[in-house]
Amino acid sequence: MGKLDSKIPSGPLAEKWTKHKNEIDLVNPANKRNIDVIVVGTGLAGGSAAASMAELGYNVKTFCYQDSPRRAHSIAAQGGINASKNYQGDGDSDYRLFYDTIKGGDYRSREANVYRLAEVSSNIIDQCVAQGVPFAREYGGLLDNRSFGGVLVSRTFYAKGQTGQQLLLGAYGAMNRQINRGKIKSYTRHEMLDLVLVDGKARGIIARDLVTGEIERHSAHAVVIATGGYGNLFFLSTYCMGANVMAAWRTHKKGAFFANPCFTQIHPTCIPVSGDHQSKLTLMSESLRNDGRIWVPKKLEDAKAIREGRLKPTELAEEDRDYYLERRYPAFGNLVPRDVASRAAKERCDAGYGVNKTGEAVYLDFAAAIERYGTEKAYTMGLKDADKATVRKLGEEIVEAKYGNLFQMYEKIVDENPYKTPMMIYPAVHYTMGGLWVDYNLMTTIPGCYSAGEANFSDHGANRLGASALMQGLADGYFVLPYTIGDYLADDIRTGPISTDSPEFDEAEKTVTEKLNKLLSIKGENSVDYYHKKLGKIMWNKCGMSRNEEGLKEAIKEIAELREDFWKNVRVPGEANAKNQELEKAGRVADFLEIGELFAMDALDREESCGGHFREEYQTPEGEALRDDENYRYVSAWEFKGEPKDSKLHKEELEFENVELKTRSYK
Ligand SMILES: Cc1cc2nc3c(=O)[nH]c(=O)nc-3n(C[C@H](O)[C@H](O)[C@H](O)COP(=O)(O)OP(=O)(O)OC[C@H]3O[C@@H](n4cnc5c(N)ncnc54)[C@H](O)[C@@H]3O)c2cc1C
Repeated sequence: MGKLDSKIPSGPLAEKWTKHKNEIDLVNPANKRNIDVIVVGTGLAGGSAAASMAELGYNVKTFCYQDSPRRAHSIAAQGGINASKNYQGDGDSDYRLFYDTIKGGDYRSREANVYRLAEVSSNIIDQCVAQGVPFAREYGGLLDNRSFGGVLVSRTFYAKGQTGQQLLLGAYGAMNRQINRGKIKSYTRHEMLDLVLVDGKARGIIARDLVTGEIERHSAHAVVIATGGYGNLFFLSTYCMGANVMAAWRTHKKGAFFANPCFTQIHPTCIPVSGDHQSKLTLMSESLRNDGRIWVPKKLEDAKAIREGRLKPTELAEEDRDYYLERRYPAFGNLVPRDVASRAAKERCDAGYGVNKTGEAVYLDFAAAIERYGTEKAYTMGLKDADKATVRKLGEEIVEAKYGNLFQMYEKIVDENPYKTPMMIYPAVHYTMGGLWVDYNLMTTIPGCYSAGEANFSDHGANRLGASALMQGLADGYFVLPYTIGDYLADDIRTGPISTDSPEFDEAEKTVTEKLNKLLSIKGENSVDYYHKKLGKIMWNKCGMSRNEEGLKEAIKEIAELREDFWKNVRVPGEANAKNQELEKAGRVADFLEIGELFAMDALDREESCGGHFREEYQTPEGEALRDDENYRYVSAWEFKGEPKDSKLHKEELEFENVELKTRSYK
């Protein structure tokens, strides 16, 4: 099992996908009715995949742990979704979107997949508009666009600060049509605990009904894992509280390789940590960097005075402010990619210029935008000599129309009015580029087991560009998987229903039941959160925004020890045969304690810096990431061998035939 063949079609880059679609096997409509597909996860990736496959005629079963697909983590996405429609006429094209994504990911993603993503991006917008997604429009009726980091065009489509929610309502509407037709059977409040393999193929899952505690068997001809990212292993992150790695990790343990686990995105614009009481961090969308300017004081004494409350940011003169992104990266300014902006914030704060009590915050300031918008508005209203207060009021109205819900969220959390005083922000864990290794067809190394959306590793290399996650999830679900899965299922038209009454299902059910009982039987001294927080601290301090050999070796050791202690001393109250949220959490944290170790091993293996993976030993004199294309131009794909420490590394060498491998520069 587990041959690493990425199955990239031959031929010119721009023709690969069309050629592939023309050549792969199809399943005729009558036969689709006899084929079952399980989709685990009903966020944007799983929801769109389930709806599309059911529309094609497959019998689909969906699973999610929330009480409705509408509550998937995708609902939190704020800023927008990319597509190369070039509505702005600013030079965009499929190639540019492809190029920006490859460069943004620091040349650690697969060209063929990324080009396909760019190619289908425009279809996604058309599909969503047809579903009624209320994208923002310009005065003339065309869809509006804004800019996100790492690009020089405006290609981000958005629905105020609620793009994910609106897109998810579209996908959920499409799912509901199929639920109503009986083509999708939706299992909510169900958690996948294991993947079942029969004759080496994915043939079903074991799930737990989270309300009754009942363990269930579900079979299918193919299984899609679309269960999102694993950033919550850091404990504090911008993810929803329930986001976890369980389905992907247990699939990994059944034979699916796990790719680039250490590639994590730390987003530069989040509300800073305020203390040990917190269990969640809040994102301030990247869209805010279209208009907000990032700065810290130029002088250490001013930073100190601000931290001590003796000086207000609004009192600091323009010449005493250091707009460090504009200074260091004049071409991209505040819209450099996330990894670059995050590291630059850390560098300033580490040097003593941080502006909140803990010294871990920088400013995101809208004063200039308010004045610029206000002046323009006053001018168009014929108010040639408008006073400052009028300009400000008009400017604030425009900023409110663009970002009102984000400003409101900030004020509710921080209790400061961001129209009047700059926001404080700091980087936080936000997205995982790593995930289940998949080939061009989105199939993992387990035949019949696919992975879509954030759960797979496919398109973003070492750093994801803003507004590209929604694009990838929906590309996978609406436009890739519905084609590629047919190629595999064409061999299953005569298989008939898969029985759940088999030794393989017996064995899988026994294993998960034993694991749940073991967690309950330990009756130790420490809560699940105790371990999760400790793991998060190790991850943040030793595997976070910057990493080094010594710290990573310590992390590997400490995580293994913490895991050992967890299995001796964790306390999980309640019982297995009922609703038990501590038990749910315990299972998820047990998996985080395993992937954490693999994460650190992966970061230790990669003796280079690229994108979000910054090894302190490998940096340019200016402190930029220093890639080593000769030795590390590969996707690391890890095979599970019993314990994380025994995992075996496989390498998918990346070929770059359509872009020149260059040092990534945003200057
Ligand atoms: C605050 C925030 C803002 C963001 N803004 C943007 C943005 O503007 N643009 C952009 O492109 N990206 C954005 N992102 C990233 C983007 O939202 C996510 O990457 C994307 O929505 C992930 O979609 P998904 O379908 O892969 O997974 P998710 O939406 O995370 O869905 C996971 C699904 O899997 C289910 N699940 C998980 N485990 C199990 C299990 N064991 N058993 C059963 N079901 C399971 C869950 O119930 C859920 O249905 C943002 C992220 C955050 C946190």
